[in-house]
Amino acid sequence: MRVERYNYRAQFGDVPDPLFAEIREMLLQGRYILSAEVRRFEEEFGDYLGIPHVRGVNSGTDALTISLLALGIGRGDEVITQANTFYATVAAIRLVGATPVLVDADEDTFLINEDQVEAAITSRTRVILPVHLYGKPLRMKKLLRIAQRHGLAIVEDAAQAHGARVDGWFAGTRGDLGCFSFHPSKNLAAAGDGGAIVTHSQDLAERVRRLRELGQRGQNNHVVLGCNSKLDAVQARILSWKLPFLDEWNKARRRVAQFYRERLEDLPIVFQATDPEEEHVYHLFQIRTLFRDRFLETLQENGIDAVVRYPTPIHLQPAFVDSGWRPGQFPVAERLARELLCLPIRPDLTLDEIDYVCECVRGFFTDLNNEDFNVSFRVVM
Ligand SMILES: *Cc1c(COP(=O)(O)O)cnc(C)c1O
Repeated sequence: MRVERYNYRAQFGDVPDPLFAEIREMLLQGRYILSAEVRRFEEEFGDYLGIPHVRGVNSGTDALTISLLALGIGRGDEVITQANTFYATVAAIRLVGATPVLVDADEDTFLINEDQVEAAITSRTRVILPVHLYGKPLRMKKLLRIAQRHGLAIVEDAAQAHGARVDGWFAGTRGDLGCFSFHPSKNLAAAGDGGAIVTHSQDLAERVRRLRELGQRGQNNHVVLGCNSKLDAVQARILSWKLPFLDEWNKARRRVAQFYRERLEDLPIVFQATDPEEEHVYHLFQIRTLFRDRFLETLQENGIDAVVRYPTPIHLQPAFVDSGWRPGQFPVAERLARELLCLPIRPDLTLDEIDYVCECVRGFFTDLNNEDFNVSFRVVM
């Protein structure tokens, strides 16, 4: 049996032909750039999130970069984020010329360690940039209080958390700006690159619009240094098509996660901590074990499309050597990078597939036990 991580076909629903017919018309009529389809998706996504302004951009990475530019962040400014995130979060900070300041991950939630944030603030700090990692929404209260006390902005990286909610708020909607990615792997996925920035501020929304459209105010009137980063119209149409399914898909992901948690809870593995008040959307289903590399190999040998996200924490990435970070500086992020592995999770994962994955996981740990490894079975933290 093979258990895949993605099923692109299923993302279009059972009857995709009307969508394909519309895309055909868009292609033939030249509706490519900032057409009505883009405005429509921006409105729909804003209605869904309950936020007035959405601007579609070319990718999640651009969403982060343009958000920082819209806040006027650049050389000499510091942006606080976490050592355990996807490369793009930190690359965006560097791309605008600012300095990323890292704090460690939280051992239980795998999100930013909020207790380390205040100590990382200096006179140059301008922004806090938390990540709703793996689809778990960060409770924003603490960071909002810290930001207010120190006069800082908040940019949320919600690239993995479309539709995740906690305390009645959607991930991405509490900070000054929220950033989404519609990369084909994400919970709400385009058929290519795509991203969006959301905000309550009309002023920031207008700055974002200008920045994504070559700094223009009116044609050929370039008033600021801008990028060219617009959500593609065909992608926008696809996203409008998929958005009505998002809640149902996220619920299905939660169901899969619940199966995994219940069936594997007696094994020497640890799951991302959850909160009864939250709606986690399980972009990734992480399990943590000291035997990660052998475990990954076994799963892959059995046809299970398991993967490690992310094997190298930010402070040890070659692209950031000039930042002066050292091994050992963010020990939790390093341990998570060594010990986490993602089991396949998709809304359409079948019970047979879940059973098969659980059987393989159980088999691995039973064999390990029988080998009488001279190591503690418990995950030591
Ligand atoms: C995917 C992702 C991004 C970047 O999105 P792209 O659309 O691939 O540029 C940024 N941050 C996080 C946490 C992500 O998972």
